[in-house]
Amino acid sequence: MKPQVVRECAELHSVVKSLHLQNLRVGFVPTMGALHAGHISLVKESLKQSDWTIVSIFVNPTQFAPGEDFEKYPRTLENDLALLEEVNEKENIIVFTPSADEMYPKNFHSYVDVAGAALPLEGTFRPTHFRGVATVVLKLFNMTQADAAFFGQKDFQQVQVIRQFVRDLNVPIEIQMCPIIRETDGLAMSSRNRYLSPEARTRALCLSQSLEKAREMILRDGCRSRRVVDAAIRAILAHPNHSVDYVAIVDPVTLLPNEDDTIQLPAAILLAVRVDDTRLIDNLLIESEN
Ligand code: AMP
Repeated sequence: MKPQVVRECAELHSVVKSLHLQNLRVGFVPTMGALHAGHISLVKESLKQSDWTIVSIFVNPTQFAPGEDFEKYPRTLENDLALLEEVNEKENIIVFTPSADEMYPKNFHSYVDVAGAALPLEGTFRPTHFRGVATVVLKLFNMTQADAAFFGQKDFQQVQVIRQFVRDLNVPIEIQMCPIIRETDGLAMSSRNRYLSPEARTRALCLSQSLEKAREMILRDGCRSRRVVDAAIRAILAHPNHSVDYVAIVDPVTLLPNEDDTIQLPAAILLAVRVDDTRLIDNLLIESEN
């Protein structure tokens, strides 16, 4: 069964109101569309835990800086709805896909100002990104009134930024992080993978491979952070069409490295790499020595 599609905030409001009047548990999965198995894993988790699941599909202009890929970002609504239809066995999925004018009408002037976990890493290279993310996510939380929202570890820093503003602003929603879904060869699934030529797609394996190598180094000899990071950067830059925005080993909550260059577990290794013109991110959590 095709999921019910809602395009306007007012309609979403009345749908959500009726779900709450029936005391039903609502799960929410925010996406920018171009859905793949990674997104669907979040939807499945929400379906497992909720009576109804709202999936938003919205390419949010405020999280893209000028010169980024907002215009060329893939928009594949028909295909997205077909993928959601496959998991809509209980007919309890609602797709909310508003226009940009619906989300940001004329005279829109209010944004969520995020600092802390939003400042390092992605924050350094995309300084306005998390402000746009936090703003649209808070708007969507308010509109969906969901009990829980499901995010992918693929965007690990994003999850921490969202957890931070939910805590700071007392937003009544539970944030759940789901594992990264990878292709069989290890490449993290991403809507942006479709920008890669077949040859670049093979080279993009350097992200997941250098994360695995870093994990081995840390667990084998508890290396200094600098040594592990340098080894990863060297491996990635072995190809002239690659560049590295960052490779970092950080505390999973603050997203900051230890000042003394030691690696304390749990730790998160995060990287952002350009393969030709495509910027990809990936990460890995090391919980403990086992
Ligand atoms: P996006 O459409 O890229 O904004 O992503 C929407 C949600 O899907 C975010 O919570 C992402 O972290 C999550 N997501 C994207 N790729 C993956 C993946 N490979 N595995 C798990 N979750 C993912």
